[in-house]
Amino acid sequence: MFSGPLAVLGAASLTLVTLQAPVAAPASAQDAPPGPAQRVHEPPRKATVTGRGGAVTSVDPYASRIGLQVLRRGGNAVDAAVATAAALGVTEPYSSGLGGGGYFVYYDAKTKRVKTLDGRETAPAAMKHDAFVDPATGQPYPFTPDLVTSGVSVGVPGTPATWQAALDRWGSMPLADVLAPAAALARRGFKVDKTFHQQTDDNAERFNAFTSTRKLFLRHGKAPKVGSVFRNRQLARTYDLLAARGMGAFYRGALARELARTVRKPPVRRHTDLPVPRGRMRVKDLAKYAVVQHRPTHVGYRGLDVYGMPPSSSGGTTVGEALNILERYDLKTMTPAQVQHLVIEAAHLAFADRAKYVGDQSGVPVGTLLSDTFAAERACRIDPLHAFTPPVAAGDVTASDGSCATPSSRSGSGPDTEGVNTTNLTVADAEGNVVEYTLTIEQTGGSGIVVPGRGFLLNNELTDFSAVYDPADPNRIEPGKRPRSSISPTIVLRDKKPVLALGSPGGSTIITTVLGIIVNRLDLGMTLPQAIAAPRVAPSNKATLSAEQAFLDQYAAALALLGHTLAPAGAPGTSAAEIGAATAIEFGPRGLLTAAAEPTRRGGGAAAVVRRR
Ligand code: GLU
Repeated sequence: MFSGPLAVLGAASLTLVTLQAPVAAPASAQDAPPGPAQRVHEPPRKATVTGRGGAVTSVDPYASRIGLQVLRRGGNAVDAAVATAAALGVTEPYSSGLGGGGYFVYYDAKTKRVKTLDGRETAPAAMKHDAFVDPATGQPYPFTPDLVTSGVSVGVPGTPATWQAALDRWGSMPLADVLAPAAALARRGFKVDKTFHQQTDDNAERFNAFTSTRKLFLRHGKAPKVGSVFRNRQLARTYDLLAARGMGAFYRGALARELARTVRKPPVRRHTDLPVPRGRMRVKDLAKYAVVQHRPTHVGYRGLDVYGMPPSSSGGTTVGEALNILERYDLKTMTPAQVQHLVIEAAHLAFADRAKYVGDQSGVPVGTLLSDTFAAERACRIDPLHAFTPPVAAGDVTASDGSCATPSSRSGSGPDTEGVNTTNLTVADAEGNVVEYTLTIEQTGGSGIVVPGRGFLLNNELTDFSAVYDPADPNRIEPGKRPRSSISPTIVLRDKKPVLALGSPGGSTIITTVLGIIVNRLDLGMTLPQAIAAPRVAPSNKATLSAEQAFLDQYAAALALLGHTLAPAGAPGTSAAEIGAATAIEFGPRGLLTAAAEPTRRGGGAAAVVRRR
C-alpha cells in the first residue's frame, strides 16, 4: 500500500497527497479489442433494498455493483466508496471524475467519530481578482458561453487526492485494487441509457468545440445512441497509471503537465464559435494541491447528532442552521403546508447568513451560525402566517444574544450559477463504518474540456466563486482559494451510532434536498424511500422560489394563502425540473440497513446490500 510524506499545513489541515515520479502508462491488456456489445448487461436498478452486512447506493447500477463487490471481497466502506466513485468516473463522467472535486464524510465505527475530507478544487496561484474580467472588453465574461466552457473556470482537481487520502487514512485495500474494477468497466464498456445520451446531446456543441472531447464522447459529432456500448480506454489507461504509480502521478509529471497545458491552451477546434477563455494553471499549482481534513459541523436535532461538511462547503452550516431554527417548532403537530412554510422560511434565513458569512476563508463564524442562541433570534423573524419577500437580510453574528435582534442590512444574495449535476454515494460496511461522499465537476460536462488522451473532463468549479469581486464577500475569488460549495454529505448519529447518512447533487438545491429528507424522515414519519421520493422545493433566499411540479400540485394553493409565490422548477431562472438525486442509508435495529436511492429522478438510482434480508 502506498505511503508517503504528510506535510502539516496547520492545526486543522494535512497534505495527504503523495508525490512520486510518474511513468508512462503501462502497456497492457487495455489495448485488447473490446468484447462483443451483447456481453454488456446493465445490472438491475433497485431504488430501495434492505439487508445486512454492508450496503452501497449511488445513481448508477454499474457503480453500485462494483462497490458491493469490493465489500464482498472484504473491503471496508472507504475502499468501496472509492471504488464506486472511480466507477462513476466511467458511467457518470459528466457529473464526476478525476478532473473534479468533492467532500468525503466518514464515520469510524472504532472511534465512533465523524471525520471529513475537503477535496474541493482550488484556484491556481495566478487566479487574480480580475480573472473573470475579459481583458479585451474590460467587462465580466458572460457566464454562458464564455465562463462555463473555459480554461479560466478550471480549478486544480481534488478528487484523485481525496481517494488517496481516504484510503491512506481509513481504507484497507491498496489504491491499485480499488481502481481495478473501474478500469475493467471502462474497458468493457456500459450500455448508454437515456440520461447519458441526453446529457451528451445537451453538451454536443461544447464537446464538438474540443478535439479531445469530440473524439472521446461523440460519434461523428453526435451523442452515442441509447443501447450502444460506450467504452473509455483512455480512462482505463489513466486508472492503470495511477494504480501503478499512486496519485502522485496525477499531480506531478507528464499527466500534470498535460493537464496544466490543456487549461492554459484548451484544444479548441477551428469550427467552433465558442470564445473559450484560457486559464492560468501551472504544474506547480497541481504539485501544491492538498486535501484538508476538517472537523465536521455538528448540531443537535431532536435528540440526534447531525454532522456535516464545514467551509469550504456551506452545506454543514446551512443545513445545520435551518435545522436549529426548525427544532424550535413542533412540526409533528402542524399541517403539511404549515411545515413547508417553516422549512422554506428557515432555509431563506440560513441562505442569507450563508451569503454573508460563509466561504473558504478564516474566521467563518461556524460556532455562532450553529448555535441555538443564533437560531432563536433568526426564528424570531418568521411569521407563521405570512411569508417573507426574499431576499431577507442576514443576521448579525457579532451581536448574537438570543433576543429578536435587529438584522444587519446586507442580504448578500448574488445570482446563483451553481451547476445541478453532481453525484452522490453512500456506503456502509459490516463493521459499521459509513461513508457519505458527494463529488462533482460542477456543470453537467464540467468545462467541456477533456485532457487529450486521458479520458476525463476538467471541472468548471471556479464558476462557484461570486462572479463579481467584492472584498467583503466571503466567496470572492482569491488565488489558492476554494469556491464555496453547497455540497452537504450528512451523517446523523444517536448515542454515537449511525441512524442515517444522506447526500445529493443539485448545486444550491442540495442544501434544501438534504434538509427536506431529514424533516420528512425524522419529523413527518415518512419511511426513508418516501422521504426521498417526496416532491421538492428549493428555497435559497432568491426572489424566485422553485419547486417540482408535484410539490406545486400538493402545496402551491395552500402556500399562496401564506404569501408564497412558487415557480415550476425547470422554467427560466429556476433550478432543473427534477431537484436533486439523493442517496441514503438508514441504520435499523440488529444491523438492518435500508439503502435507498431515487425511484425516478435521473432515471432512478441503484441501491444494493451484501445480504438481502
Ligand atoms: N458546484 C456545486 C457545489 O459545489 C455542485 C454542483 C452540483 O451539485 O451539481 O455546490
